[in-house]
Amino acid sequence: MIIQDDDLLNKKYKIVICGSGPAGISLALELEKKEIECLIVEAGNELYSNLAQNRYKGEVIGNFPSDLSVTRLSQFGGTTGHWGGTCRTLDNYDFKNWPVKKENLDPFLKQSCKILEIPNKFQEKKINKNLKIIEFQDSSVRFYEKYFEHIKNSKFINLILNCAIYNIKMNNQTVDKIVLKSKKTFSIKTNFLVLACGGIENSRLLLWFRENNPSISKKLPIGNYWMEHPFKTIGSGVGNFNLIKKNLENDFEKFKNYRNWGNFTVSISPTEKLIKKKNILNSSIFLTIHDRDNNSLKNNIKDLLCVAPKLSKKMVSLFNKKLLCGMTVSSSWEQESEYKNQIILSSSKDRMGVPRIKLKYNISKKTLETAKEMINQIGLYFIKEDLGRIAGDQAIYDIKNFISDAGYHHIGGTIMGENKNNSVVDKNLKVHDINNLYICGSSIFPSSGHANPTLSIIQFSLRLADHLIGGDNTI
Ligand SMILES: Cc1cc2nc3c(=O)[nH]c(=O)nc-3n(C[C@H](O)[C@H](O)[C@H](O)COP(=O)(O)OP(=O)(O)OC[C@H]3O[C@@H](n4cnc5c(N)ncnc54)[C@H](O)[C@@H]3O)c2cc1C
Repeated sequence: MIIQDDDLLNKKYKIVICGSGPAGISLALELEKKEIECLIVEAGNELYSNLAQNRYKGEVIGNFPSDLSVTRLSQFGGTTGHWGGTCRTLDNYDFKNWPVKKENLDPFLKQSCKILEIPNKFQEKKINKNLKIIEFQDSSVRFYEKYFEHIKNSKFINLILNCAIYNIKMNNQTVDKIVLKSKKTFSIKTNFLVLACGGIENSRLLLWFRENNPSISKKLPIGNYWMEHPFKTIGSGVGNFNLIKKNLENDFEKFKNYRNWGNFTVSISPTEKLIKKKNILNSSIFLTIHDRDNNSLKNNIKDLLCVAPKLSKKMVSLFNKKLLCGMTVSSSWEQESEYKNQIILSSSKDRMGVPRIKLKYNISKKTLETAKEMINQIGLYFIKEDLGRIAGDQAIYDIKNFISDAGYHHIGGTIMGENKNNSVVDKNLKVHDINNLYICGSSIFPSSGHANPTLSIIQFSLRLADHLIGGDNTI
């Protein structure tokens, strides 16, 4: 049901969820199944509005590639209004430093896939001891289209639009009231508050709440360990299309070609063994085979002549037989989790009076080494099987000037852990030492893996619903 400010006067909700992106909506839907009433507070409108989006402007210090206001959407359904829909689960070894393991999320996978309307299939196949081909799924769900009418007609989910959480009022270690701003400012009472405002806003709001509420410990690393998925073309090559297809084609890899060119794309990841042996991070390589123009081929061969005359002679002979095809190697990979990559509050404020953010962001040596090692491993595989030759892009050998694109996957900032000195929420997503304040979304991930985050976000939301409904809670 859609409600207005006046409907909220003197109202108390058992649970208030801030944010109507996949994190918030998935949680509300699960509570609805148990006939538990909740309120979703959404700062944006039903559809896009410049006014709501303006709150997302912020400043970047470091080599982050984008304007922060275009990397997320403030409207009903959140950023799924323009997301890409690519889905994959995290690998079990991504959970190395997490208080939760993959098997704790597995019970929620089937339902998460149902929400995203994707098959619950994420196969993989080793191509040697270091590399494996992996399967992604592709969702075309937009949460506005799928769920707006449903929520409008729901008896248990109440939704207020154009209304932002502005602050909280605490009684000792418990959130007693939440302060909301729409056209007016008012407060309501709640038993449980869940922030599901996205991978930047969760940190921003919590930092802001802490400025006004000394019960939120100064020790919590709010805003720290912020991560993205670097996303970049990191190499190119030439090869024999028929042989490559014979070696790498399989019945489950059907990754949509995000550039809409090329004959064939295959996604390749490091095995756990390689990650450990080379001390690298997780990664996904998208190897796209396509026609290439002779100019760049000539340039490649000219370059190669200087370092490998024999090989380039062989290339020229292949070229004459017209057997060559081009390859572009792109990657989306894990960024090292670092304390210093962080969201802080700026001195300028949005129209609601909440400080805007500054993002301090840099790519570490280990993050870049991962891209180099993956090019190296794929290059070695191509040599061993004599499928062609691959070269790394110049940019990945230049740490000082390295800038990558990003997947617009905002991860970390309110990370999960057992130790209050280096994490913000516990394994149940409750903010340490605060009795009834929860966070949901990718801001709770202590590391990013390489998988696109939304499927895991939804798994965590369903698990949070399970926790809030069961256990010692009073819902
Ligand atoms: C271009 C693009 C492509 C992407 N492609 C993919 C992909 O292929 N696969 C994938 O897994 N992920 C992808 N993502 C990321 C994906 O969109 C996010 O992971 C996902 O939307 C996060 O869900 P969320 O609910 O945590 O946050 P969001 O979807 O950002 O929703 C947060 C909601 O909270 C609201 N809100 C914010 N502040 C307040 C406040 N103070 N009070 C009340 N409400 C508030 C916002 O208005 C918004 O509606 C992509 C993102 C972008 C930008």
